[in-house]
Amino acid sequence: VVKYFRQLAATTISLAVLIWVSLAGAAQAVPLDVQTTGRAHKGEPFLVTVTCPRPMEKVTITWLGRHVPAMVNREGGLFRAMALLGTDVRNVYGSHEQLTVQALVQGKLTSHSLMVEIYEKAYPVQRLTVDPNMVTPPKEFRPRIEEERKIVGAALATITPERFWEVPLLRPTTGRISSVYGLRRVFNDEPRAPHRGIDISAPQGRQILAVEKGMVILIGDHYYAGQSVYVDHGQGVISAYLHLSEIAVRRGQAVLRGELVGKVGSTGRVTGPHLHFGLYVLGQAVDPLPLLLAEEG
Ligand SMILES: [Zn+2]
Repeated sequence: VVKYFRQLAATTISLAVLIWVSLAGAAQAVPLDVQTTGRAHKGEPFLVTVTCPRPMEKVTITWLGRHVPAMVNREGGLFRAMALLGTDVRNVYGSHEQLTVQALVQGKLTSHSLMVEIYEKAYPVQRLTVDPNMVTPPKEFRPRIEEERKIVGAALATITPERFWEVPLLRPTTGRISSVYGLRRVFNDEPRAPHRGIDISAPQGRQILAVEKGMVILIGDHYYAGQSVYVDHGQGVISAYLHLSEIAVRRGQAVLRGELVGKVGSTGRVTGPHLHFGLYVLGQAVDPLPLLLAEEG
């Protein structure tokens, strides 16, 4: 019996020590709650939500070497910041990539890191036999294509600290998805770069709407993309609308969610009228479909 009480006393002491240690730890730790996915397939976008019961500021989320300043909103008694992240079907990643959240909470800098597993997804393959001139652009167009690639790349690298977006995003136009994101096209037995957006089949002239509030950062008439509009929604999220027959906005213009940006067309290197819609997150072309509002009807 004495032995039993001794054991019990020892257990109680160790429990007390444990409680004291955890309380001491809690007093120092900043209660930063980071919610995100632990696993995403290549090309899939995902959200990160950072919540804190105490005022937090200067929230920075680091992903694939890019830093996103995340805007803090007060919701009820909590402080919350959000970021949209993802990977690009075109790029190569490790099996796990590190996500880091840094925040200043009442003057104290705190940092949380976690790993996101990136796994391969078998995207569909489409084999086509086409005019060889359609596959490889004539040599004289190469400097123009290279120049346009740089201009678009610079626009897609934009990271505006304000966040104008909320998910889900609006559908840019109505119509069937005729070509999914990630589709691996093989022209005349030559594999091409995977499809970095979705194609929405729609007749010439159908209205195209901004998927979210933002700022028009680029308007182009490019070799591949044809007449195109790029809208910055903040925190590194950019939407792209390609092959338009008409452009309804100008560069530097602020647009509202649902505002007309242009009309469906077949400009650029396409075989028929459709909207190619692209969504970029920190320069990575992600699959826009999981973020779009379901089509009505
Ligand atoms: Zn497309």
